[in-house]
Amino acid sequence: MTNPLSNSEQLQQEARTRATIIEELQERFSPKDEILDDAIARARASNVPEIQVSPLLGKLLHTLALSCRARKILEIGTLVGYSGTWLARSLPPGGKLISLEVNPRHAELARTTFANAGMAERVEVRVGSALELLPTLVSEAPFDLIFIDADKESYPKYLEWSLKLSQPGSLIIADNMIQRGRAFQTPSPDENAAGVATYTRIILENPHLVSVGLPTDDKGDGLDGFVISVVRE
Ligand code: SAH
Ligand code: MG
Repeated sequence: MTNPLSNSEQLQQEARTRATIIEELQERFSPKDEILDDAIARARASNVPEIQVSPLLGKLLHTLALSCRARKILEIGTLVGYSGTWLARSLPPGGKLISLEVNPRHAELARTTFANAGMAERVEVRVGSALELLPTLVSEAPFDLIFIDADKESYPKYLEWSLKLSQPGSLIIADNMIQRGRAFQTPSPDENAAGVATYTRIILENPHLVSVGLPTDDKGDGLDGFVISVVRE
C-alpha cells in the first residue's frame, strides 16, 4: 500500500493542478495578446497596480457584450484599458465605449492601449469622478452593457445610475463582488466590502433584474468575481 499524501502535499498537488488547468484554459480561450501584454507591461513600468480583470474574465466580458449585441458600452473604472479593450473589440462599426477614469495618468495609459489596439475611434476615456460624470451621460443613454469596476464604496450609487442609463436587455456587470468572502462578512469589515454587500442586496431586491454571482480565482490572488445582472423586459 502506498502512503497516503499528507495534507500539505495534497494541497500543493491541488494548487499545481489548478494552476495547470487555468493555464490550459487561458491558452485556449484567451491566448497571448501583444496589445494586452504591452498594456500590462506599461502599467507595471508606471507603478500602476495590476488590478485589471483576468484574461478569462476579459474574454467573458467580450463574449457577453457580443451576446447582447452591445452597440453602446459604459465602463466605470478604466485603469490601463485592459477590460476596455476586450469590450471595445466586441463593438460593431459605429459602436462606442465610454470609459470613466478619475486618475489622469491611468486615462493616458489607457488611451495609448486603445490606440495600439486600433480602437481609438470607438473609445472615449472621460476623466473625472464617475459620480460627477454619470449625470452627464443621460443624453447618450441607453447603454447595452455597463461594467462597474471603480471604487467599491460607490457601487450602490453606480447601480442607481446604471439603472437609469440602461434598458431592458442591458447587462450590468460588477467586478470584485466577492473579495475573498469579505463581501459576505457581517458586519462588513470595511467600506469596500460594505459597498459590494449593499450592491448585492439591492440587485436581489430589484424585480427588474435577474442576477448571478460568479466566483473566480484565475489570477491566483484569492476568490473574487463578477455579479452579472440582466435588466428584464
Ligand atoms: N476595469 C479595469 C480595472 C479598473 S481598476 C480593468 O479590468 O482593466 C479601478 C479604476 O477605477 C482605477 O483606475 C481607479 O483610478 C478608478 N477609479 C477609482 N475611483 C474612481 C472614481 N470615483 N471615479 C472614476 N474612476 C475611479
Ligand atoms: Mg476590478
